[in-house]
Amino acid sequence: MGDRDDRPRRLGGVRERCSHCGLLQDRVPTLDQDWVLLEPDMRPLAHSVPSEYRWIELSDGRVTVYGVCPADQFQRCRVEHRLACPRQTLPDLWPWLTTLREENARQAERRSAPEPLPLRPEGWPDAG
Ligand SMILES: [Zn+2]
Repeated sequence: MGDRDDRPRRLGGVRERCSHCGLLQDRVPTLDQDWVLLEPDMRPLAHSVPSEYRWIELSDGRVTVYGVCPADQFQRCRVEHRLACPRQTLPDLWPWLTTLREENARQAERRSAPEPLPLRPEGWPDAG
């Protein structure tokens, strides 16, 4: 990589390259004196993005998470580059779905386990 000079300054933030995929992302200050790396030039409708991952722009150039539910139907937001990055794994976007997947993984594992049921009542026919 080493393309540190390739960083045009922007109002409120800096555009820099993702260390994973090399594409451009916006480093934008947040309300909590932190930074977030946002996908550039992309403002989807807020209600199409999980509430913890919606960033809205404030008048001073900083951004903050827009957790209002239900979201205003015309509100636009920004998303983090890591959600769009082809080289990073997606975070837990919908927690209940992740929980369901984990539970299903356990069920599938139990199904394929070769060991017999430990508490088999006597007298059951051996299905062999
Ligand atoms: Zn990337």
